[in-house]
Amino acid sequence: MMSAILIAEQGHSVTVFEQNERIGKKLYITGKGRCNFTNACSRDGFLSSVISNPRFLYSAFETMNSEAVIDFFERHGMKTKIERGNRAFPASDKSADVIDTLRDAMRRQGVKVRLRNRVSRILTDEGRVTGLAVINLDDGVEKCLDFDRVIAATGGLSYPSTGATGDGLRFAGELGLRVTKTSPSLVPIECEERYCEEMQGLSLRNVELHIKSGKKEVFDEFGEMMFTHFGVTGPLILTASAEIGQMIGKKELRTYIDLKPAVSEEKLDDRILRLFAENRNKAVQNVVNELYPAKMLPVILAQCGIDPGRKIHDITKGERLQIVQMTKRFPLTFTRLRGYNEAVITKGGVSVREIDPGSMEVKKIAGLYFVGEVLDVDALTGGFNLQIAWCTAAQCAKAIGPNV
Ligand SMILES: Cc1cc2nc3c(=O)[nH]c(=O)nc-3n(C[C@H](O)[C@H](O)[C@H](O)COP(=O)(O)OP(=O)(O)OC[C@H]3O[C@@H](n4cnc5c(N)ncnc54)[C@H](O)[C@@H]3O)c2cc1C
Repeated sequence: MMSAILIAEQGHSVTVFEQNERIGKKLYITGKGRCNFTNACSRDGFLSSVISNPRFLYSAFETMNSEAVIDFFERHGMKTKIERGNRAFPASDKSADVIDTLRDAMRRQGVKVRLRNRVSRILTDEGRVTGLAVINLDDGVEKCLDFDRVIAATGGLSYPSTGATGDGLRFAGELGLRVTKTSPSLVPIECEERYCEEMQGLSLRNVELHIKSGKKEVFDEFGEMMFTHFGVTGPLILTASAEIGQMIGKKELRTYIDLKPAVSEEKLDDRILRLFAENRNKAVQNVVNELYPAKMLPVILAQCGIDPGRKIHDITKGERLQIVQMTKRFPLTFTRLRGYNEAVITKGGVSVREIDPGSMEVKKIAGLYFVGEVLDVDALTGGFNLQIAWCTAAQCAKAIGPNV
């Protein structure tokens, strides 16, 4: 949609083929229905939030940085606001406003939109694009249509119900382009421990997640996470999935949560000692309960091998130190990432080596461009993935230039 608007503004005739019954279906569900459409950050802030191939996006971000994206939406009549972490949203908190703004701009620029039309092939001849084969999903008829330029903005594989069915990756493969291995990313993670299920629904705030591969700490961040029936989710976990997801199942990872990152082991032990001294005749579950959420308390005690009804005066020093250990190093064993149905984005895609970063054009096929999530670029949450979509679209529009 963004490339269609910017290209039509330059006097070209543009047609958008969308297989769904409406356009921008994925945008509806972004940012929990509020659409965090970009991140008002500097170039360095953007590039450090891109996980795969940030340098490829350097020039595209210069062409349409986040300020320019916010300006685009404001100019097209959508009020915006910036929240914590520079996250930009429509002022209305409605993702539908982003879609409506794009749809209205397309209409004003005379962009033709063909809904329920599925592109089945990209047609080329002697290293140049010649058109598209398109199936009308209402009558099933496939037609070959001539175009001098084609932009594949087909998305990745995540949330296939929104239309992200990986067709762009298939087109690239059929045209002999390298496609890097794809995997779900920004996705919940399954864990071996049964206690995740026991604690399902429990959210932990201000905890620190540590992940080690051998002696090397491969992830260490603070944040919020949640237990589910299969394992863990929440912002901290999604970030971890993007950064170390590909190591799961391949490398031996040791993962633990520091439930009290603001206090050292010694300080925590002092606090527990004090609690114990003041409550010698009480059951342990009624003494350490102030340290943990209710759903977690029985799990912590079970992991330490302590019967919740035991009296404090009965608890040994070793057992007390175990409670400290369990609090500072609550263990998790990641077994695998959840699937594309639950993944915010797809890691991997059309190799950036095939694409000219100055234009988004395929180096060996003139007139063919790839933009957005179909490319092998992905970023953290915070509006960065849509920023990738907008700026790669703008880069291709700029390269196509005015129709003279
Ligand atoms: C739940 C969820 C929440 C998210 N929240 C955010 C957020 O708040 N901020 C953020 O920055 N990012 C967010 N993202 C990521 C962001 O939505 C995507 O990175 C972005 O939409 C990618 O844009 P795209 O245009 O490349 O692909 P898409 O938005 O996936 O659009 C591709 C379109 O192409 C169509 N299509 C595909 N193949 C064909 C074909 N053969 N013929 C015709 N049409 C076809 C599809 O139907 C689809 O409409 C979220 C993703 C999810 C799943």
